[in-house]
Amino acid sequence: MTHSRCLCGAVTWKTDGPFQFMSHCHCSRCRKAHGTPFATYVAAPAGGFRSSGRERVGRWESSPGFFRYFCTRCGSVVPGDPWQGLVFLPAGCMEEDPGERPGAHIFVASRAPWFEIRDALPRFEAYPPTCRRSRTGHRPIPLDRRRAEAVSAAASRTWSRDSRSVPGTVTARAAARRAVRRTPRIS
Ligand SMILES: [Zn+2]
Ligand SMILES: [Zn+2]
Repeated sequence: MTHSRCLCGAVTWKTDGPFQFMSHCHCSRCRKAHGTPFATYVAAPAGGFRSSGRERVGRWESSPGFFRYFCTRCGSVVPGDPWQGLVFLPAGCMEEDPGERPGAHIFVASRAPWFEIRDALPRFEAYPPTCRRSRTGHRPIPLDRRRAEAVSAAASRTWSRDSRSVPGTVTARAAARRAVRRTPRIS
């Protein structure tokens, strides 16, 4: 059980694990919503998610059909509606260590020009190949964890870990073409 709260405490939420898919998103919308060079989210099963203070939660449609949720009193980012059985949590609001660790940088093609990634995590121009396109639309569906880890391991071998290199190898471009344009219910 992990507890989270917004800055003012009006909105709180609890989540059971297991946590998965922790990543740093460098897309321009996450950067603006958080005011930071990237946003870190972690997913958890929606069945173990409970929240209070939802009357304080506002939302804004940052792209068609995609809403970002926030506390209307303090402005903190808060989780959105569950999607595909998962709820995507802003990791910075957690009071305890969820145990999960970041597995990738995503949407690196949109990163802030003044921010240099210096760690060795796999980097993806957009979505990692651990997401596949849903049958009904463009929303990505995370693969199951074992498959995701295998793909991630393969990707980390394929993608350069050199922070000075620019993502954009043939392999990365092919993955970007397969990748989808929208995030899973990241609020
Ligand atoms: Zn608040
Ligand atoms: Zn993002």
